[in-house]
Amino acid sequence: MIHKRGSALIILIGLICAALLSACAPESLTVPDASPIVQTLLPSPPGAGVQLPMPDQLAEPNATPTVLETPPQQDTTESDVRYDIDAVLNWDEHTLQVQQQVTYRNDTGHTQTEIVFNIEPNHEPDQFELTRVTRDNRALTDYTLEGARLLVPLNDHLAAGQTTDLTLDYRLALPQLQDGYSLGTAGYHLGYWGYSARQLNLGLWFPAVAAYDPVCGWITPEYHSVGEHFVLRAADFAVQIKVDGAPDGLRVAGPGDVTRPDEQTWRFELAGGREMAFSFSDQFELLSTVTASGVKVELYYLSDPEADTLSTARHALHTAADALALYEELYGPYPRSRLVVVEGDFPDGMEFSGLVYVGEGWFRTWHGTPNEWLTIITAHEVSHQWWYALVGNDQGNCPYLDEMLAIYSEVLFFEHYYPDYLDWWWQFRVATYLPAGYVDAPVYDFYSARGYINAVYLRGAMMMDALRHDLGDEAFLAWLRAYADQMAGQVAYPADFWGLLPEDSYASTEQTRLAYLQQADVFASPE
Ligand SMILES: [Zn+2]
Repeated sequence: MIHKRGSALIILIGLICAALLSACAPESLTVPDASPIVQTLLPSPPGAGVQLPMPDQLAEPNATPTVLETPPQQDTTESDVRYDIDAVLNWDEHTLQVQQQVTYRNDTGHTQTEIVFNIEPNHEPDQFELTRVTRDNRALTDYTLEGARLLVPLNDHLAAGQTTDLTLDYRLALPQLQDGYSLGTAGYHLGYWGYSARQLNLGLWFPAVAAYDPVCGWITPEYHSVGEHFVLRAADFAVQIKVDGAPDGLRVAGPGDVTRPDEQTWRFELAGGREMAFSFSDQFELLSTVTASGVKVELYYLSDPEADTLSTARHALHTAADALALYEELYGPYPRSRLVVVEGDFPDGMEFSGLVYVGEGWFRTWHGTPNEWLTIITAHEVSHQWWYALVGNDQGNCPYLDEMLAIYSEVLFFEHYYPDYLDWWWQFRVATYLPAGYVDAPVYDFYSARGYINAVYLRGAMMMDALRHDLGDEAFLAWLRAYADQMAGQVAYPADFWGLLPEDSYASTEQTRLAYLQQADVFASPE
């Protein structure tokens, strides 16, 4: 018997709702207690003899910057939310004037009297200014904007399955990044939203229709500086950006299909994305390659005439393409024709739909060997195309559902391509930090990135390895593939992940769950 839909449906709905209930009413911030009762020793590295599928040889990179012409996307599923965004970016002022049309089909199953948007830039003052909200060509005045939450009443109500159009007019002012961070009054975050001397980044920049659940209603996640806290639903996008005062040689990195209506304008279309992120720079160089499965991988990197940035970029590009090819074999097809990798002028890395950042520090410090951060983080970020972009999750309350799978994808990457460095990976990435903490802790339990990474990522990698030992390679990999397949396009919760294990397999993981999880019985109601 399997703990999924079928006979356990009613129980599962109750459990998922219970999980949602705890998710939508975050507890007040408490001092983290990250010390689990049971400490587990670092596992032995998995045997290098395990053979993972071998993708075909990848094409050689093309060092000549090319005009971005891409075939139609493979993913044409229509989402319940569609955004048509028309923006003018003032290059010198770092501001955007935006008109955003939103088409929303009521997918909640019952009549709605309101619609809620989350506007990440409005966590800070002076970054977002809403000038007009219209519905069916009528200007609305009874909306409320409080922090990141915009609530628009639907006075004539919207029945289940019905569609409505809203148009938002607003102005954005990007923050200046400091050492790659946006430092604000609410906290700080990596520079995926803001500008530096050589890059301007639009990430999580526009009002997004909130995810909805039947118990809590519209979800507006509490802001937190450590990790991510977003709950993003899949949607379809068409974003057109005109750049006023564009410098010579400006390149715009963005996901999906791209066209150039004129010299100053870029247009991107993306189906089934969770957001749409862009990076602008007049210092970008472009490398690209095509995987055996036909996915074009593009790397936008920041050139430095003083350094050998080309060979570094080639390594990053090949790592991204290799990772994509392996994960397609392991987890299922990448549902897009392009993957864009951007050297972020900020630390670490960040995932978006069809586009990932790898921090400039990993490029700058690359010494020419595979066993370095550039390889690790590139392989990690690419895996988020499955664990975040394809299968969404509540990143604030259940961050392990994407980060644990992403870090274990690094293991699978090294095991397949660089098995001689697998022991190095476990030592360098995990053991060095003597990790402690519960894998299933929410980001709100942590006040430092190190403590968060140690618990959720590093102990997450250890738990995945233990689960692999419990289940055996075949069942373990089949589980991950089933999770990617069955939860694609949705927001998954722990019951969805664990519920895809057959009952006896789930039972065989009990000791591992007890060792690593705060709530070892993942189907029990939260305490
Ligand atoms: Zn990650």
